[in-house]
Amino acid sequence: MSDCLFCKIAAGEIPSSKVYEDELCCAFADIAPQAPTHLLFIPKEHIDSVAAITPENASVAAHLLVKIASVTKELGIESFRVVSNIGEQAQQSVKHLHFHVLAGRDMTWPPG
Ligand code: AMP
Repeated sequence: MSDCLFCKIAAGEIPSSKVYEDELCCAFADIAPQAPTHLLFIPKEHIDSVAAITPENASVAAHLLVKIASVTKELGIESFRVVSNIGEQAQQSVKHLHFHVLAGRDMTWPPG
């Protein structure tokens, strides 16, 4: 999508601090970190959110989870939280599927 911030980051048109990239996805540091480690994992293909995952694009979503597992392992992150906000009430601000990976501090439950 031409006006999508994360499509532009995925394409390298907007700079980001990438920690991982392949043909299907990339991971980069959140610009406003909510924990000592705060990464975002996004597909290169535009998908609006978890609510837009279908049988046709599910392999990309699964790939993101596989990469969350392997990249956190490579970075030595043993305990972390994965969050994906969907829609306004859940505070989704960028309408391109992304998984937040938060680590490096004690987390509370339930999330606010
Ligand atoms: P959400 O509010 O769940 O949609 O998450 C969007 C996330 O994108 C927020 O945590 C923002 O801080 C983050 N963000 C927005 N713009 C950028 C950017 N240019 N580079 C990195 N992270 C960003």
